Amino acid sequence: MNYNIDFLISSFVFLVMLFYHFVISDRLENQMLDRIFLFFIVLGIADIAFDIITTILIQQENPELSGITFFCLTLFYVMQILVPYSLYLYTVSLRAGGSSLKELLKRLWPASVLPAALFLVVMTNFSTHLIFEVTDTGRYLHGPLYLSMYLYALAYALLICIDTCFHWRSYSRNQFIIICEYLFIMGICVSIQALVNHILLTGFGLGLCITILFFSLNNPAKTRDGFTGFYDIQHFQKWIRRAFEKGSPFHLVCIDLPRLAQVNKLFGFSIGDGLLNQTAEYLRKTNPHSLIFRIKGRRFVIVTHTLLDYQATRDAAAILCQKSFMVNNEAFLFPAAVYGITNAQRFPQPEVFPNYIDYLASLSTADKESNLIQSDERTIQNFLYEREVERFLPIAVKEDLFEVYYQPIYSLEQKRFVTMEALSRLHHPSLGMISPETFITTAERQGLIIQLGLLQFRKVCRFLKNHPRLLETLDNVKFNLSPTELLKKGHCSQFISIIQEFGLPFSFFQFEITETVATKYNEAVHQEIQALLDAGISLSLDDFGSGYANLNVVLKLPFSSIKIDRTLLFNITEDSKNALFYKSIVALLKNMGYTIVAEGVEYQPELKLLEQWGVPLIQGYHYSRPLAEGPLLDFLQV
Ligand code: C2E
Ligand code: CA
Ligand code: CA
Repeated sequence: MNYNIDFLISSFVFLVMLFYHFVISDRLENQMLDRIFLFFIVLGIADIAFDIITTILIQQENPELSGITFFCLTLFYVMQILVPYSLYLYTVSLRAGGSSLKELLKRLWPASVLPAALFLVVMTNFSTHLIFEVTDTGRYLHGPLYLSMYLYALAYALLICIDTCFHWRSYSRNQFIIICEYLFIMGICVSIQALVNHILLTGFGLGLCITILFFSLNNPAKTRDGFTGFYDIQHFQKWIRRAFEKGSPFHLVCIDLPRLAQVNKLFGFSIGDGLLNQTAEYLRKTNPHSLIFRIKGRRFVIVTHTLLDYQATRDAAAILCQKSFMVNNEAFLFPAAVYGITNAQRFPQPEVFPNYIDYLASLSTADKESNLIQSDERTIQNFLYEREVERFLPIAVKEDLFEVYYQPIYSLEQKRFVTMEALSRLHHPSLGMISPETFITTAERQGLIIQLGLLQFRKVCRFLKNHPRLLETLDNVKFNLSPTELLKKGHCSQFISIIQEFGLPFSFFQFEITETVATKYNEAVHQEIQALLDAGISLSLDDFGSGYANLNVVLKLPFSSIKIDRTLLFNITEDSKNALFYKSIVALLKNMGYTIVAEGVEYQPELKLLEQWGVPLIQGYHYSRPLAEGPLLDFLQV
């Protein structure tokens, strides 16, 4: 018969080229799938090569070459056994993730029984002629078990089908489609060859399958960022997962270009790209043997395995913080930020590691000179803490897990407690008490502060309603309003409605707002505040002296009371300047007609001075810490 080997030759050529591309591209080290794929290409090339050689030899029917024909045919049949088996291995390894080849082979040993048996048959074929025979005249004849080779291939195709369908959830959609594709192509090619014997399409099908795999699942270029040529974020995530599984030490140096967006905006993308390119070039030059990832438009990560390397890499990266770049003959100072993470493999929650890098980026650099942020146990704990608060807060708001504590405020003139401040408390099942400073800012960021404020205000009203004696004993209750609450249009009317709903006197409420609100003073804020004042609610300025408010702006708002921030108390008993400062503020504010509250009074000597200076109201641990409802009622004896 005259066989057509054109298809085989073309498959052979493109598989060799593909092999070359795959080998020269540097892939991530140690990837099992890569190694199986490489084995698969080599096998494909060998299979097709022997297919071509044996076809040529068989066609010649040369008695002198019968020995070599027999030998080549034997090797060809060995390939025919290995190809379906390795295709099966490859398919399983697609879903097996990080496990090693050894583990995989161990796990799949039952599937190796059939190929091993067939291998024995092929290797003993020289005496049994069960599969094929080459006669003395050089003729190639099929043996009685010749068809078993086809049946074997069919059995493996079925095994792959069943196994894939059984584990379809473990494959990505893309992987699943590609498995179906190669099974389909092999099916078509084998069927055509079975029908039209002289067109040798099986080898061609194999070549096509390997090519598809190369471009879809095993394309080394796909893992690269097209612009810098470094590995991309997807690869970083895979690599990190594997590195954590392995557990061997690794240290990361992250280089961030925080000003890139600004440069793009002000000078155009071509300048931004130029700077990015030069940074990438610098990193490549200073770390020629390291694994480098570009994990965000402006962020790179370099992996090091020894602390010595880590230090060298970090120091080289730190130079980027002072380096000026030339783009289009113009010098740009383009300070980078560097984040160092040593022993990254010890990070307690590997799945959120990329977020940790974002978190480091969000911290302002402590060392302005080198723009370096060094990760340590504390930053890791802070990150995990903040993350947990972020996760917990929406649940806490939904299930209303907050409490209100009250801190009594003492009148030095009347010698009794005349008012109290309502302060929110949140208890976390494992973290314990979360500071309101933390959860209030988080709630503001998440847009939950409005809901939270209303929940807490309701609790305050309910408490007062249930204990009317408080209304008789105290002059008012102070409730904190965050800037976001005051800046939301129409929000204050909700507080008014709640007070009405509980039938409480408006004059019993005083809202505390900080200087930040005062600086954002505008018509909308004015209307909100007017609504409160019209109802009879009074306002107090909180944390006076802590911020940077313009006194002018502060004066614009109609406060009846001003609370002097705790920080101004610092050292007043030791330092006469500090004392004079506090005293003058008290005198000034008193002259202007404000009621003054001194906040954070802890010690008797402080209290004595404040009394001398005529501060009427005192809030602080000296008298009482914030108390829960029950203890407060006991404390005030109502
Ligand atoms: P703030 O309004 O300045 O409240 C006073 C803070 O000082 C309270 O902290 C109080 O426990 C603390 N403090 C009082 N006396 C002393 C003292 O003698 N020494 C020291 N070291 N601290 C003292 P807390 O309860 O942790 O609240 C922190 C901040 O959280 C509050 O500062 C307030 O800005 C905010 N906050 C608390 N609850 C709420 C709320 O329901 N809504 C809003 N918007 N903010 C709240
Ligand atoms: Ca306050
Ligand atoms: Ca305060």
